[in-house]
Amino acid sequence: MRFPFALSVKIASHIIKHKLRRTPKFAMVLQLEPLHTCNLTCTGCGRIREYSTSLKDVMSLEDCLAAANECDAPMVSICGGEPLIYPKIEELVEGLLRQDRIVYICTNGVFMRKKMKEYLAAIYSPKMETVLDRLLAEKLISEKDAETIRQGKRDPRPVIQPTQWLYWNVHIDGLEYTHDLIVEREGVFKECVEAIKMAKRLGFQVATNTTVYKETNVAEIEQMFAFFSSRGVDGHTISPGYDYDAAKKDMIRRLGRQPEDFFLTRDMTKQKFANILDWGRRFPIFGTPVYQEFLAGQRELTCTAWAIPTRNIAGWKAPCYLMTDGHYKGYQEMLEKVDWEKYGVVDGVARDPRCENCMVHCGYDPSGALGTNYQRGDHWKNFAYNFGPKPKTATEGRAVNAFNGFSIGKGHLAEAKAAIKSADNGNGAPHVNTYCGSGDTSQRDELLAKIAARNGA
Ligand code: SF4
Ligand code: SF4
Repeated sequence: MRFPFALSVKIASHIIKHKLRRTPKFAMVLQLEPLHTCNLTCTGCGRIREYSTSLKDVMSLEDCLAAANECDAPMVSICGGEPLIYPKIEELVEGLLRQDRIVYICTNGVFMRKKMKEYLAAIYSPKMETVLDRLLAEKLISEKDAETIRQGKRDPRPVIQPTQWLYWNVHIDGLEYTHDLIVEREGVFKECVEAIKMAKRLGFQVATNTTVYKETNVAEIEQMFAFFSSRGVDGHTISPGYDYDAAKKDMIRRLGRQPEDFFLTRDMTKQKFANILDWGRRFPIFGTPVYQEFLAGQRELTCTAWAIPTRNIAGWKAPCYLMTDGHYKGYQEMLEKVDWEKYGVVDGVARDPRCENCMVHCGYDPSGALGTNYQRGDHWKNFAYNFGPKPKTATEGRAVNAFNGFSIGKGHLAEAKAAIKSADNGNGAPHVNTYCGSGDTSQRDELLAKIAARNGA
């Protein structure tokens, strides 16, 4: 199956339960941001900017667990910032699993191996030497790591363990050259690949999480799916980037250009996702075929951002993961006080100009599952997709030249950064960061344009 049976049943039961009760609005996935601190400074990351005054703040474990309890979403995506920096990440994962939720840890991958070594230390016994031998042979751990693991774990804290209810959801936006450029650190793609390999060796489930931007080369995304499929990755989430209002304001001020010059518009999104239904057949892409049809421009959907609420240090963020018109103390309070009719695009008309180009996963994927804009056969289509067989491993992925950057000496960041610095008009504008999944591509456009110019492309 595309998704483990028990998980599909859990999600389907949740929807059926609320449909029978006629609950008008309910949560499907909680985007939980226990902190906004990150170890990376990706091009186009806005969490760091939007919450720049509270980067050091973290939600308490109790608040995190209470938020999940209150909205009662069957799935919780722990994001951030980088969630593996959250001091109580293990307790949080354990607590959410104890609440019978499906947990995604949305990570940039850099600290994954560290967490898995702690897991190995916690379960170490001499019988595990063959596992350590294999990890050593594949250079996924060092001799020093193996020694530390053999000493066992000394503190009583829990560890992150493999279970069918848990996914590592690793942020990957392309093959090595592109991904390292986007995260502004060479070697991150390679680390992600090694962490994913180690996770699969240890029995974890792993998904990748990709945002498509204006300049994304879709042929590369297809290669990326094939590459990770051949590495045993269990699923992929993919979403277009977002036309972000705060980023627009910054771009107008900083670059003196019009936002329309930069963003992925709806028409461009449909072009980028023209083949998504084919990708869904070939690769284990998560979500619904109804949302995929929407992305491919074959139908309209109405935004259901309330179904993927975001809770962070400031409260329940409304109306959605991307846009902030307010924070509320409770999920129910947010549902009641927000005028949801003000948002989204209906029949091609944007109710809010900021929604005009949005087709993002967190606004529209639940719409596909919940049957808004229902067309005959949709429920069966979604059922067949999620309960049907998982696509076969894409063996062609073994031939993909994924390590096409830093690993072959094609480092690019120093040059790109120098180019950007020289392009800065000296106005002292701060580094702009939007967030995981945002569509502020202005900086990356500059980087790519500068590199192309230097290469004479
Ligand atoms: S369409 Fe929905 S998800 Fe997109 S920006 Fe508007 S409210 Fe947010
Ligand atoms: S995009 Fe994600 S990984 Fe990158 S800096 Fe932002 S929070 Fe960190």
